[in-house]
Amino acid sequence: MATLSPLLKQATPVLAERGEGAYLYDAEGRRYLDFTAGIGVTSTGHCHPRVVEAAREQAGTLIHGQYTTVMHRPLLRLTEALGEVLPDGLDSLFYLNSGSEAVEAAIRLARHATGRQNIVVFHGSFHGRTMGAAALTTAGTKFRAGIGPLMPGAAVAPFPQSYRYGWDEDEATRFALRELDYVLATTSAPADTAAFVVEPVLGEGGYVPAPPAFLEGLRERADRHGILLVMDEVQTGVGRTGRFWGHEHAAVRPDVLITAKGLASGFPLSAIAAPTAVMERARPGSQGGTYGGNAVACAAALATLEVVRDEGLVANAERQGARLNDGLRKVAADHPVIGDVRGLGLMQASEFTAPDGEPDAATAARAHRAASDRGLLLLTCGAFGNVVRMIPPLIVDGAQVDAALELWAAAVADAV
Ligand code: PMP
Repeated sequence: MATLSPLLKQATPVLAERGEGAYLYDAEGRRYLDFTAGIGVTSTGHCHPRVVEAAREQAGTLIHGQYTTVMHRPLLRLTEALGEVLPDGLDSLFYLNSGSEAVEAAIRLARHATGRQNIVVFHGSFHGRTMGAAALTTAGTKFRAGIGPLMPGAAVAPFPQSYRYGWDEDEATRFALRELDYVLATTSAPADTAAFVVEPVLGEGGYVPAPPAFLEGLRERADRHGILLVMDEVQTGVGRTGRFWGHEHAAVRPDVLITAKGLASGFPLSAIAAPTAVMERARPGSQGGTYGGNAVACAAALATLEVVRDEGLVANAERQGARLNDGLRKVAADHPVIGDVRGLGLMQASEFTAPDGEPDAATAARAHRAASDRGLLLLTCGAFGNVVRMIPPLIVDGAQVDAALELWAAAVADAV
């Protein structure tokens, strides 16, 4: 008899039988409020009827077209639809299955397009677990320990983590940009630097929104040095932060945008977008994959984009995110162990800190576990595991946010 590998580490003990909207149900019919959304994937909620219908219909028509062999309509229609929501100029798209694969594709594209090797990332980054993406991942040594040597050519500069530094955002931003200039002067010469790869909100690294001035500083340096600005919107894209793309909180336009997770409501699909002039510099046929741009996943993504538009889910993410942030702050006010509450839209987190200022992962873990025992599914993040994050689906309503906050307040009281 085969068993699942002990490699697998599961955040909750739940056996999910069925999902509907913001809820998951286990085999006994117990209902959970799912504020993990499959790690930010089920953007339209579990099994949105329009997504289910689109996938069902496509599955009965053409499941797999294989884009390096034949083209199919869902891929063409999705490309047209993404053209409506992508930043101006990012008019050329290439599809893969996962966030990591899209990051790998972006690394290759940046190297081809610039003829340079190095990639600069920002401390606390998470870009994936494949070997190239792992080299760009600095959200925790657990993602890289013992698997090296990793891809050479990655350099790390600070991300403005103001709470961790104990500074305000402006100070943290000035420091981070000064240190980036130092990295360019000491470690990765501009002439060797293909790209900056950055998340608009550090995700796995602890839910730290990038101050707009930081992203704008990256844009300015990218322009000055001919470096590509690659925005990893795998977790922040498709409405998650209360804008369609997370970088829209700043006055910047990326050169390459990476999207995955929420794009297809749970079907595996990712994409990189860039100006045609940048894509043209990659060698045709240098990228590909058996499953990229799968027809059913594309149909689900098309339905997702329609639902996001028709149900006003970007505005809902902003509205419910503000409500969630407010409520989390109230819980934190009652519990000094929560040292910081932060987030953008429906990426919200509470950071647990001991009285001596050290990360308090033990209390965070107890609160996380108590929440799931009470029927609220959450995730932790951050290099020290002391941040509890909430990523509900974009369809979440005010009553569900309030219910989650009530469960969270009780879970924190259980944990302290
Ligand atoms: N980039 C970011 C910002 C992510 O949050 C993730 C997944 N957590 C990835 C890349 C990797 O995506 P995947 O797990 O689909 O490979």
